Amino acid sequence: MAGNNEHIETKLIHAGEPDPRIAGAVSIPIFQSATFEYGGEASYDAIKYIRLNNTPNHTALHEKLAALENAEAALVTASGMAAISTTLFTLLSSGDHFLAQSCLYGGTYDLATRELPKYGISFDFIDGSDPDTWESKLKPRTKAIYVETMANPLMEVPDLKAVVAFAKAHSLVTLIDNTFASPVNFRPAEWGFDLSLHSCTKYLNGHSDIVAGAVIGRRDLIEQITHKLNLLGGTLDPHACFLLHRGVKTLSVRVHHQNKSAHAIASFLEQHPAVRKVNYPGLESHSAHAIAHELFDGNSGMLSFELDGGVEAAERFMSSTRLPIIAPSLGGIETLLTRPTTTSHSGLTPEERQQAGISDELIRVSVGIEHTEDLIADFEQALA
Ligand code: PLP
Repeated sequence: MAGNNEHIETKLIHAGEPDPRIAGAVSIPIFQSATFEYGGEASYDAIKYIRLNNTPNHTALHEKLAALENAEAALVTASGMAAISTTLFTLLSSGDHFLAQSCLYGGTYDLATRELPKYGISFDFIDGSDPDTWESKLKPRTKAIYVETMANPLMEVPDLKAVVAFAKAHSLVTLIDNTFASPVNFRPAEWGFDLSLHSCTKYLNGHSDIVAGAVIGRRDLIEQITHKLNLLGGTLDPHACFLLHRGVKTLSVRVHHQNKSAHAIASFLEQHPAVRKVNYPGLESHSAHAIAHELFDGNSGMLSFELDGGVEAAERFMSSTRLPIIAPSLGGIETLLTRPTTTSHSGLTPEERQQAGISDELIRVSVGIEHTEDLIADFEQALA
């Protein structure tokens, strides 16, 4: 077992592993059993049953994920959206209000703007980089503030320390979607956030072969969210738990490579004459470079950029590359390209995208673990 003071690389391998090992197995077996013998459990949530998120595959992952972010507890879910929606439905009831950073993942944006209002839950957008404007958005029943560590797809970084200070001053629960950063680059609990949300479909699993999510943070809140998830049913299947458990062990080696490679690619693109703008917090030109430099251990494998020549040039570039796969999603071992207008942010109206600063020609890159020089050479020939 890993101790609290060990490095994340060690925790990835050892934290949460069954002790003693089950029949000596070095890799945790898959507990493909819907139900387990009754052992005198005193509450509904404690009964051993797959939907109640408590097979050995679930509990091992919960301990490992909590350890990675130095948090009290964690819960895995059937998808990133199951983590986000179950958390918001746990914390907010009819009549409640929350603040959300204006540039959100498309699914979260859709949930906040179109679904939550049907349940009497309202919100206001805030400019994450302008804390002076937040107080005027508060309402008597504002309960939470929701941000993304690096907002999809422009890689905007809110003033994260101000978010925590503001929430403390106004008794709000702090929620942060930490998918893009991953626990290798940012650990929200260390900076005072109450809950960190993940699409484990991305970096945490890293192999583009499952959909999964997680909520990591304060134990009292995780217990409430677990109860809600048990009723809503967004449970992660044990086989997917096993794949996530296997995938997460290599998180650090993958993300360190992806950080370095994305930085090199962003720098290459920034000096290329055909490129109009590059969004990567590791670049000095990025508006949140100073915050990223202070708070993050790395800037992720995610970047986006715009070419001169609009949508046509963007499409021509994408189809001229040889290595990346043109596909939505991110955080896997293979480099992926997408135009967010056609994928992650297609649920927004053109006006909403314009307001969020997402142009039709924006290209998002999720850098994989291929050799950096091969990717740059491929981008160079595609730009030519
Ligand atoms: N959060 C972010 C930042 C995402 O990019 C995504 C998906 O792309 C999600 C949440 C939703 O995750 P999932 O597809 O696992 O439900």
